[in-house]
Amino acid sequence: MTDSPVYDTLIVGGGPAGLAAALHLAFHQRSVLVLDRGSGPLGYTTTPLWNVPGFVGVRGVALLKQLRAEAHTAGATLTKGNALRVSGELGDFRIETETVTYRARTLLLATGVARHHPRVGGHHAPWLAYAAKGNTYYCPDCEAPEIQGQHVLVIGVDAPDSAAGVALTLSEFAQSVTVLLTGEAGLSESAADRLRERGIPVQMGEIAALEGRRGHLDALTLEDGSRLAPDAFFVVGPKLPRHELAMQLGLELSAKGHIQTGWRGQTNVAGVWAAGDVQPQTQQVSVALGSGNMAAVMIDQTLTRLGLRSPAAQLSAVTPPPSASPRLSSMSL
Ligand SMILES: Cc1cc2nc3c(=O)[nH]c(=O)nc-3n(C[C@H](O)[C@H](O)[C@H](O)COP(=O)(O)OP(=O)(O)OC[C@H]3O[C@@H](n4cnc5c(N)ncnc54)[C@H](O)[C@@H]3O)c2cc1C
Repeated sequence: MTDSPVYDTLIVGGGPAGLAAALHLAFHQRSVLVLDRGSGPLGYTTTPLWNVPGFVGVRGVALLKQLRAEAHTAGATLTKGNALRVSGELGDFRIETETVTYRARTLLLATGVARHHPRVGGHHAPWLAYAAKGNTYYCPDCEAPEIQGQHVLVIGVDAPDSAAGVALTLSEFAQSVTVLLTGEAGLSESAADRLRERGIPVQMGEIAALEGRRGHLDALTLEDGSRLAPDAFFVVGPKLPRHELAMQLGLELSAKGHIQTGWRGQTNVAGVWAAGDVQPQTQQVSVALGSGNMAAVMIDQTLTRLGLRSPAAQLSAVTPPPSASPRLSSMSL
């Protein structure tokens, strides 16, 4: 097990929240490490994002690449790794991966949420070739207008009533909406009534096979042999906050498992902040960016108040020179 230098801040999660925080902290000459395992949604979203101010039309993967490059150029260190264990207190936290123990004075958890993908023949893997690549969508608040005038299949993965709610929202834009419920649970009576009133049909069944190519899904076949070939597919499933590290630290969680914070991301444990989707807040890129920034401002102010700053020698060991270009190929994330 290798030990790292002591960073001012260690950020777990290299999505928009973590990277916005890293940019601010690095710009303020804090030594900051972003640890990310590469399982965030934007890393596989090749469809354009239309509601991110300043970036309208950018693809998720390109946005992530740019945010990483900006944080890196400002001086943040970006490392690929899975944070497994956390311990310590303000001034001396430790995060362990399989091979390295990272040390830091403060922590920011920006670990996002985990989404359920549809199962095909009982497995999630076949769906991943299509997830957020072409005509499959996940986020009605971000993407609903994209299916204007289309025939849409809403696939409920273990979340029947949520699927019904999304179907009703999408019916404002789509030419037609059908709901497919996978998993064992059925609709509540009230959800079933609302779908019936809008004339939205509901089917139950498990997906047996997919047809499509290069990220575009043409059709799916159910186990009973029926074939569904809409224009677009909307996936609705539980979104589970990634709170394992928070639990190890004894952070307060909401009823749905998000990390409870004050409005600038401070948690109930001194020296630990949270930002982005892992907080109980609207799950949007711009919100994640903003909350990462707010937490970073507070972390920087807290370190200043406590008189904690990495000595220059240590900073130079973890910070690239100002002229460093954002060559992603040279980064480990
Ligand atoms: C398909 C899809 C399309 C979307 N489209 C839009 C859109 O058009 N507009 C919009 O505003 N929003 C959109 N969203 C929502 C948006 O992507 C999220 O709100 C945003 O990414 C949240 O940022 P975050 O930094 O909080 O978390 P995430 O982006 O989820 O990043 C969290 C990171 O933490 C890492 N991580 C978690 N646990 C660990 C650990 N233990 N160790 C190391 N790393 C860890 C993960 O690898 C991940 O990279 C979309 C979401 C999806 C799924």
